[in-house]
Amino acid sequence: MSQVVDHLAELTGYRDRDVLDVTLVGALREMLHPRAVAIYRCVGDAGAERWLTRARQRHDEAAASADPLWTELDTLPPASAHPLREQCWRMGQVYAELDAVTTTCFPMSTDREVAGVLEIETDQPLSRESQQLVAGILKVYRNFLGLLDYSERDTLTGLLNRKTFDDAFLRSAAVLAPGSGTPMEGEERRHRSGAQSWLGVIDIDLFKSVNDNYGHLIGDEVLLLLSRLMRGCFRLHDQLYRFGGEEFVVLLRARSDADCGAAFERLRQTVQGYAFPQVGRITVSVGYTRLRAGDSPAGAFERADKAVYHAKQTGRNRVESHQALVDRGVFADDLRESDVELF
Ligand code: GH3
Ligand code: MG
Ligand code: MG
Repeated sequence: MSQVVDHLAELTGYRDRDVLDVTLVGALREMLHPRAVAIYRCVGDAGAERWLTRARQRHDEAAASADPLWTELDTLPPASAHPLREQCWRMGQVYAELDAVTTTCFPMSTDREVAGVLEIETDQPLSRESQQLVAGILKVYRNFLGLLDYSERDTLTGLLNRKTFDDAFLRSAAVLAPGSGTPMEGEERRHRSGAQSWLGVIDIDLFKSVNDNYGHLIGDEVLLLLSRLMRGCFRLHDQLYRFGGEEFVVLLRARSDADCGAAFERLRQTVQGYAFPQVGRITVSVGYTRLRAGDSPAGAFERADKAVYHAKQTGRNRVESHQALVDRGVFADDLRESDVELF
């Protein structure tokens, strides 16, 4: 009993979701002594979902492993590759398969959806008591995630809020900085070597007129729909923020200025081509910049925002690269925040 309380205390001591999942898997491994325990999240577009391993630990492993955050979606197994898991996720119920090894799948729900599956492999079927224990721990986990969401996410769109941006930004910068002391495995380093971190600011064009013409509620609906379009345009590991009002920020990884621009251009075109109920067409202006060594969140934001400002001045419905504008002599680079390029 006290072991359970200890594990719950440890679990709810973290605010980092990655650590939380690894901790949950480790706790269940110690409590149930299974062959393996894992948390999988279902990611990707509806109808083409795939399994992302959030944490998995076998009985003979000292630590849990997980898919890296920057995993490409198409390298993950499709939902249908694991029928029991898929059934559990779709139906939101516990399912077990008794074979040489028993696999038991528990749905992991949030307030909105079944976001993932906890999968436990045991030599014997899980006792009723163990099943109740797992179900109880998952309830605590769900409540705790709800609290985290409440403090980290924007209530209207569900995107991350501004409060969490600084931490995430500094983590992105740390990951990039060579010799920053961030432990990186060989594969991780190789995979990352070609990519850089970028920050983009997205501002809706003439949004005030949407509110003036259709009212605030319809305006809010446009913000919600736009956040969904954004989710569809960016990759799994890109981080989307609502910065307040009708301004959004994306932290993403891309190999070049052109690749980053292409991602935002895709969003610009998607928004332009979308028929917003009642309102019809709206457009967005975007500015983006590459993160540099020594960047502060405010410094990088300011560069991207300057590019947005230029997009607004030159007709709106445009994507502008800060670096390209500097190269064209539109404005001088502001090296106040940093004077060393990372790559
Ligand atoms: P621009 O193309 O220059 O960006 O024009 P704009 O009208 O979008 O100008 P600006 O960005 O300055 O205006 C922001 C407007 O967004 C002001 C306000 O009416 C609206 N707004 C800000 N926050 C919210 C919100 O949470 N909900 C709604 N419905 N409207 C908001
Ligand atoms: Mg604005
Ligand atoms: Mg605007």
